[in-house]
Amino acid sequence: MKFYKQSANVTPINDTVFKVAAMAKKDALQNPELVVNATIGSLYDENGKIVAYNSVFDHYNQIPSAIKASYASSFQGNPSFQKAVFQWAIDQNVNLAHQVIATPGGSGAISTSFRTFLDADQTVLLPNIAWSSYQLMASQEKIQVCKYEMFQDDHLNLEDIQTKMAQIAKQQDRVVIVINDPCHNPTGYSMSKSEWEKFITIANEISKQVPVIIINDIAYIDYSYCLPQSRQYQDTFNQISENVMIVVAFSCSKSVTSYGLRAGAAIVLAKREENVEEVKIIFEKTARATWSNIPNAAMDNFTWVVEENTKAFESEKQIYIDLLQQRSQCFIAEAKACNLPVYPYKEGFFVTVKLENNIEQVHEKLMKEHIYTVIVEHGIRIAICSLPLRQIPGLALKIKNIIDQQ
Ligand code: PLP
Repeated sequence: MKFYKQSANVTPINDTVFKVAAMAKKDALQNPELVVNATIGSLYDENGKIVAYNSVFDHYNQIPSAIKASYASSFQGNPSFQKAVFQWAIDQNVNLAHQVIATPGGSGAISTSFRTFLDADQTVLLPNIAWSSYQLMASQEKIQVCKYEMFQDDHLNLEDIQTKMAQIAKQQDRVVIVINDPCHNPTGYSMSKSEWEKFITIANEISKQVPVIIINDIAYIDYSYCLPQSRQYQDTFNQISENVMIVVAFSCSKSVTSYGLRAGAAIVLAKREENVEEVKIIFEKTARATWSNIPNAAMDNFTWVVEENTKAFESEKQIYIDLLQQRSQCFIAEAKACNLPVYPYKEGFFVTVKLENNIEQVHEKLMKEHIYTVIVEHGIRIAICSLPLRQIPGLALKIKNIIDQQ
């Protein structure tokens, strides 16, 4: 007897992170000195503790209970939060019609976009190396997945993106593509402004046939190594045609180390006001019918941090950006020295070792050596965001040796 609907998928989630992270924790109880846990995708300090910014949480802890207890003032999110998100996440030169809808993290913005723009059996275009949740979000909506090759040598494979978009445009009435940039998870790649320009030209070209929706997932944008320029690529958004829409998926999780507060936003951008307005209505209805509203205090706290406490927050965050840079430089330099191939890392939380064959065997063998990593498509992810600097020297060579033994 089955209690659930016919179309439900009961295959258990293959959680490649939490399972391995639990094994690493268990191993660390017996071998604390030996275990290298490179699985956790949150920011951790050099003492193995999750980072929770004082510049964020000192204020949060003082928010009156009545504000924490209250519903948000709108299903679309508190107006002050909508304004703060737009100003924080979007380059000031962007001159497009826009609406901001508060969502449960970036996950809410991306999954709601899939539901809004695609019918069952239509296809979403994803990177071939990607955060695994995209696939799950698509399959929950019975949406098919097509993948573009992310790289051609060490740069974005725009040719494949164009080919796949053109293929999809022939088979359905719109094209929806996910671009996780800057600080791509799991490779740490960031597109250059010229790659964005070329990509927008491609999107405009395809949009002569069908509407194109670009979901720009910016979950890690606030960890760019050149922060002042991190939003400049969005200037290229001004060049979109009337038949292109962009949804920027913003997340408070990493930006203000508030993973558990579940706040984020979908920022909908297009040339025409009425197109943005229609999509806002759909998003708002989805909000009301699913999560209802986003935690009031989480939204108010984000607004306060980025409007009233910017300096303290940015200087505290910079400490960890510098740390990420040190950790990544150490790993990449050693990988180069021992010829361990990695994807073209520029910035962000993760570095990924290139691997096409025997991925599972290598992953297993690494665990035998107390090195815990995450299998991703076409590689093995090293979460430098949580790996103390002292554990990085020698790691690349150990991985290289294990790969060579296969
Ligand atoms: N996008 C990417 C690439 C991620 O890695 C994550 C979280 O790990 C998210 C979006 C969304 O995170 P959240 O829903 O916590 O905002």
